Amino acid sequence: MERILIIEDEREMVRGLRDVLEFEGYEVVAAENGADGLRECLRVHPDCIILDIMLPDVNGYRVCQQIRAQNVRSPILMLTAKAQEYDKIRGLECGADDYLTKPFGVGELLARLKALIRRSRGYAGEVGIVRVGASEVDIRHCRVRRGRTVHALSHYEVEIFKLLHAHVDQPVSRDQILDHVWGTGKYPSNRTVDNFIVKLRRKIEEDCANPRHILTIYGVGYKLSL
Ligand code: CA
Repeated sequence: MERILIIEDEREMVRGLRDVLEFEGYEVVAAENGADGLRECLRVHPDCIILDIMLPDVNGYRVCQQIRAQNVRSPILMLTAKAQEYDKIRGLECGADDYLTKPFGVGELLARLKALIRRSRGYAGEVGIVRVGASEVDIRHCRVRRGRTVHALSHYEVEIFKLLHAHVDQPVSRDQILDHVWGTGKYPSNRTVDNFIVKLRRKIEEDCANPRHILTIYGVGYKLSL
């Protein structure tokens, strides 16, 4: 279930958003001010953040900067009551991904939200970061971050992850992994692949005994599901 964090002090607005989003099958977490919003953001790892600019403590721009300063890359949809170009640009410069001007229609909100989540998932982009559940795999710097925990990835772990990611939602056989990662001429056993998968799961999965992202496809190999 995708999790949306709403940071907004207007209770009516939060109630309305919550009803719509829960009806659409999202899990909703809400915070009434910037400080709580930042704390909840680090706690729940939202798939998307709806952030109002007008908050009682700090403004939404500042919250946006604080969220990005914590290396959280969840997409941020800013809500603004003002339609001035200046506010939109300022929001995007602070690290927001999109904005909506109040009042907005439910249909537009949902469309923007879905597009943001879709874009953020499985899209390594120029920075080479892939979101896998609550984890962020940083391909370029060979590490995985989950909340405040960071694990280094070995060369083979990164290569296996890249191959699975290139075939996201499709099974990849152990032979494909051996060919692609170790190359022909070197023959580590299938067991080697399995051992690396176990290591990857420990770093990426929330519960590596019950993996939800690096899945075993019996008789075939493995599949990455984001
Ligand atoms: Ca507000």
